[in-house]
Amino acid sequence: MNFHLKSFKELRYLLDNHDITAVELTQHFLARAKKVEGEINSYITLCEKEALEQAEAAQKRIDAGDIAPMTGIPVAIKDNICTKGVRTSCGSKMLDTFIAPYDATVVAALKAQGAVILGKNNMDEFAMGASTTTSYYGTCRNPYDISRVPGGSSGGSAACVSAGLAPASLGSDTGGSIRQPASFCGVTGLKPTYGRVSRYGLVAFASSLDQIGPIAKSARDCAYLLDAITYDDGHDMTLAKGLAPLGDIFDKDISGKKIGLPKEFFAEGIAPQVKEAVMSAVLKYKEMGCEIVDVSLPSLPYAIAAYYLIASAEASSNLARYDGVKYGHRSGEGDTFEEVLINTRNEGFGDEVKRRILLGTYALSSGYFDAYYKKATLLREKIRKEYEAIFEECDVILTPTAPDTAFKIGEKSDDPTQMYLADICTVTVNIAGLPAISVPCGNDSEGMPIGFSLVGKAFDEAVILNMADKYERVSERVLSDYMLQD
Ligand code: GLN
Repeated sequence: MNFHLKSFKELRYLLDNHDITAVELTQHFLARAKKVEGEINSYITLCEKEALEQAEAAQKRIDAGDIAPMTGIPVAIKDNICTKGVRTSCGSKMLDTFIAPYDATVVAALKAQGAVILGKNNMDEFAMGASTTTSYYGTCRNPYDISRVPGGSSGGSAACVSAGLAPASLGSDTGGSIRQPASFCGVTGLKPTYGRVSRYGLVAFASSLDQIGPIAKSARDCAYLLDAITYDDGHDMTLAKGLAPLGDIFDKDISGKKIGLPKEFFAEGIAPQVKEAVMSAVLKYKEMGCEIVDVSLPSLPYAIAAYYLIASAEASSNLARYDGVKYGHRSGEGDTFEEVLINTRNEGFGDEVKRRILLGTYALSSGYFDAYYKKATLLREKIRKEYEAIFEECDVILTPTAPDTAFKIGEKSDDPTQMYLADICTVTVNIAGLPAISVPCGNDSEGMPIGFSLVGKAFDEAVILNMADKYERVSERVLSDYMLQD
């Protein structure tokens, strides 16, 4: 049976109906992963033993009728989300030996429901990147063409769903790291509103921008998984209070919805094939009775600069905890604390992480603070206000998810600015703390997937998920060859 093609709802039915056991389902995904991981490399750690134990426990719950939405259903987790007793490496040598002593809130919530954790997904080191080529554990490859990147930094989470190695996964998104790899790998990815999903146990990159979210084969599955991880255990004080599960959101009509198209997102620099595919999605919405409104986000040209200053400044502070004493790697070289510290960081961090720490430290240093960091925070306010103005006349905003489709492995690696510019369509959403979902909308002439994004008002996940679902229902998705293999 092609269980990897099934939705969460279908898997729930099969499990509850005793057509398949949780152990068989888990074995199905583990076997698929073992077969193709040599080519894809979407997992850093495959948790075979733990997953089978969790599946056995889940089956007991199913047999006893104690069933939650995720009981017995396998998922994969990005390797910057803590999983008790299992290595949480962040794709870095620095945390190669770090076994998380506790579960992140999202993982605890999944486990409480009886979900099965298949493994920990590959990622750019410390979630810094857009290609998943900076991982200490090797490059992850795109299931549509293994000579190309899966996007990043949650490239492993997207590739593993796209190749049918897990029904869905969790990624994290600081500047696009759920949506961009989802679009490169032909799957659906949701970055929730800042404050919807607990960040407790997510290894911090840029705390004011980070959010955990689902990557799945459809908007419906994203909603299913989002509900499963929306849980407040009091450990994240930035979490919004009183959040209710989404519930039945897919029966609402979307005709009359106003979709804003910000002209800056369709300007020069966006590949013609991407523009064309995104505009044909816009046409589909028109046919479904939506109204298209031309809008503008004038600060977009400054967004990359603002994002890289804010994100790197926060990263330089967050990554100060890796000193060779508290966590992970410690250099054996050096006689004083300072020498060990310097050697530890030198050996433990890769080039991109070092670059961000340097950039962030520079932007925060006295004398440059006003010129860089402060200016970036002013831009952040401006971008927020520009989004607010758009949402006065629109229900959602539609943009390309990335300026181009998946590039060749190594193509942008020598020039960081090229890699950074690839984030132009996603970073403003994090800067403004808004929810956004990337949906596949066709393939380029070489078969690589293209995605568009729907950005919603804060906490309007129900609206963008429903609108994404309506599009998915009238469009066809080209699956990867890996997904189509038995
Ligand atoms: N590509 C962006 C960066 O490198 C986004 C990363 C992310 O969202 N984690 O910072």
